[in-house]
Formats: sequence, C-alpha cells, structure tokens
Amino acid sequence: MGKGKKKKNDESSAAPKQPFSEALRAGKGFSLADADPRATTAFEGDKKAGQQALADMGSELGDLQERLYAESKVDGHRSLLLVVQGMDTSGKGGIMRHVVGQFDPQGVKYTAFKVPTPAERRHDFLWRIRKGLPSAGQVGVFDRSHYEDVLVVRVHDLVPRQEWRGRYKLINEFEREVTASGTTIVKVMLHISPDEQKARLMERLDRPDKHWKWNPGDVDERLRWDDYLAAYQDAITKCSTAAAPWFVVPADRKWYARLAVSNLLLEHLRAMDPQWPDDVDFDVATEKERLAAS
Ligand code: AMP
Ligand code: MG
Repeated sequence: MGKGKKKKNDESSAAPKQPFSEALRAGKGFSLADADPRATTAFEGDKKAGQQALADMGSELGDLQERLYAESKVDGHRSLLLVVQGMDTSGKGGIMRHVVGQFDPQGVKYTAFKVPTPAERRHDFLWRIRKGLPSAGQVGVFDRSHYEDVLVVRVHDLVPRQEWRGRYKLINEFEREVTASGTTIVKVMLHISPDEQKARLMERLDRPDKHWKWNPGDVDERLRWDDYLAAYQDAITKCSTAAAPWFVVPADRKWYARLAVSNLLLEHLRAMDPQWPDDVDFDVATEKERLAAS
C-alpha cells in the first residue's frame, strides 16, 4: 500500500508540462482583452530559473538548426519562419538578440519590415514579404510582417476599408501556400499591457543612451491602443489557421517572453525532426585513404 501511494506521488510530480505551443496557441474563442500580459504560462519558476532554462536551450536549438540546413543540402526543402509582431516596446528587439541570437547567423534570414518604400509601394503588399521568405534549410525571421498591412494600415486608414478587409483572406491563402511548400510558420504576438508600455517608454526618456530609440509618434500610437487591440484581435481571430496558428505570448516580463518564444521554436523544430543526410555520394574509406596520402 505504501508503495502504491509513493508511485502515485512520483507520477504526479513527473507529469509532463503542457507544451508552450499548446498553452499559448490562440484557438477558437481566443480573447486578447482577457489574456494576462504578466502571465508565465506553461512555466513554473522565477526569473532566474527562466533565464537559466533559456541558456540551457541554446545547444539543442543550434543542433536542430544545423540538421535542418544539412538536410536541405541533400533532398530537403524545409525551413522555419518566425514572425514577430507586437506594439512598440513589446520586446521585439530582445527576442532578436536573446532568442534568434542563439542560432548560427549563417543560417538565419532576418528581415525588418518598416514603412514601405516607394519601390515597395508599387507592388502588392505581399511582394516584399515573399522576398523575405527563408530558402530551404534556413531559419527566416520577420521583425514585423505582412500583418502590419492589417494593423497600422487599418488603424490609420492608409488604404480604403474594403482593401484591408480583403487582406485576411489573402494572408491565409499566402500562408497556406508557404506552409505547403515546406516552411513551418511560427507566428508570435508579444502581448504587453499599456501600463508596462508607459513604463518602458518613460525609461527611454529617462536614459540618454536610449534617446536614439525615441519616436514622438510612439505616444500618438499609444493613444490608439484600443484600435490596435481590436485590429490585433481580428488578425488573430481571422488568421489563426491550422496551417499557421497564432501564439500570443505574455510579454510584460521580458525574461518570460524570451523563454516562451525560444520554447515555441524548439518545439516546432523538434516536431520537424530534421535528419542528418546519410546517403552521401562518396566512399568514406576511399576518401580517408586519399586524404592520408595527400
Ligand atoms: P520600428 O519597428 O520601431 O523600426 O518601426 C517600424 C515602423 O514601420 C512601425 O511604426 C510600423 O508600424 C511601420 N510599418 C511597418 N510595415 C508597415 C506597413 N506595411 N505600412 C505602414 N507602416 C508600416
Ligand atoms: Mg519603434
């Protein structure tokens, strides 16, 4: 009897944690207004433990990335695309440094999407996005994305309503096409609270070394918070598809957001399970002989 009881305790303490990709996925009925930006979903631990857990993931991420690249050299066509969206100060830069920075930069294709240039404007909104897609074996990273075309564009009426309304469907078709061609898409929204944003913006003004980041327009954007919230809610509701779901990451705690995005990448790469190519077109023994004799 004593044994039985002990076994039960062991089982519960060893219960697998819910994967971040399940816990953070914006499913049916998801409500951004009800999502807590301070949450530490799917992680039991404090900041120190979170930072350690992040540091511990680097080598596996690097190994999986190298496998993905190696696989593509033989017959692979697969790649990974991380899409990062979020309000100003939500921590996109920190994700680039601390999460994407764990990868070998040779295999990363990074694109930051700014206000479209005149040249970009001459094409449809997905033109510049297609150019940023990763090739086989690469990890693509979008710092902002085609979603700006239904976010800032919608909030500021940069195109007629009828036009942006048609874009959700175009985005879903585009992403379906991209995933069908072998690219796994991980879409992340860094979710911060207006209070946290205020504190982060104030810090930029308090610190001379952060003044270069200051953009007076950020305060104007802040005043449109509810409009952005509605635009994000629609983008998430309409474009969280089976092929490319949205993950909403609580981002008031920077350490947690970095840990969560890193885990999302790790879980997706593990599921892709890239393999070292084994059908090389040379004979190892012969090559060893030739090398030794050289
Ligand atoms: P940052 O990421 O802080 O360098 O700012 C880039 C700016 O470009 C943000 O204010 C975005 O809203 C803006 N932006 C990005 N894509 C678009 C777009 N398609 N149309 C209009 N503005 C955009
Ligand atoms: Mg900015």
